[in-house]
Amino acid sequence: GPLEEMAIPLYFGWFLLSSVQVKVGCTSMDFLKTLDTLEAFKKHTSDFTGKEEMELDLEQYFETKGNLHCTTKFCDYGKAEGAKEYAEKQTVKDFYSSVFELSLSALFVTPRTVGARVSLTEEQLLLWPGDAEKEAESVVPAAASLPLGSRAHVTLGCAEGVDPVQTGLDLLEILALQQEGQQGELVEEMELGSLTYYGKGRWLLSLREPICAPACFSSYYK
Ligand code: GDP
Repeated sequence: GPLEEMAIPLYFGWFLLSSVQVKVGCTSMDFLKTLDTLEAFKKHTSDFTGKEEMELDLEQYFETKGNLHCTTKFCDYGKAEGAKEYAEKQTVKDFYSSVFELSLSALFVTPRTVGARVSLTEEQLLLWPGDAEKEAESVVPAAASLPLGSRAHVTLGCAEGVDPVQTGLDLLEILALQQEGQQGELVEEMELGSLTYYGKGRWLLSLREPICAPACFSSYYK
């Protein structure tokens, strides 16, 4: 009967435990607050506003998110390609409701999103769908040639009217530039780490000390 089968969720992912949600939220706020005061950033605010040298309050520019998580598989209640197969995978069942330690290794900002890069371990990669990067190929052509797990991220905020799916695409875009050998422009050594500019409003802060974020592998139904 229908009750024996687990309904397929909107998405599976790692959900940050509440104590670390606060820490990550604060770190993100601090970063945005500092970033928009830097001269180097002010030079490029037109990437965000379309106007030269305009004051920009990044904290207001982004709508911050609650329920911080790292999506593994977007299932759309079974409508997404490969959703059923993923939900039925033995590793997904075995690890369901287990707590993992995610490593947040960088923060990034674009005119569309702000997010944290998640560097997955070998074990965590067992829960990562093999086609997550390839799925983005139509938007980021080089995505399929990036290592598995490159798309892993936590969305921290989106600009008005931007869907959270954009955050992973923005991350892939930056990683694709790095892979092509674009070093970016090392802008500043900040307290949190080194800040690099990749053009078109794309900023990456490599954290000096990655944030260790305990997170429960689970699923979400709206
Ligand atoms: P919301 O987070 O409640 O606004 O719900 P969404 O449906 O917009 O997204 C839920 C999660 O699934 C977010 O983490 C999105 O990044 C992710 N997501 C949404 N659409 C897609 C998609 O097409 N592909 C992938 N891989 N992830 C998606």
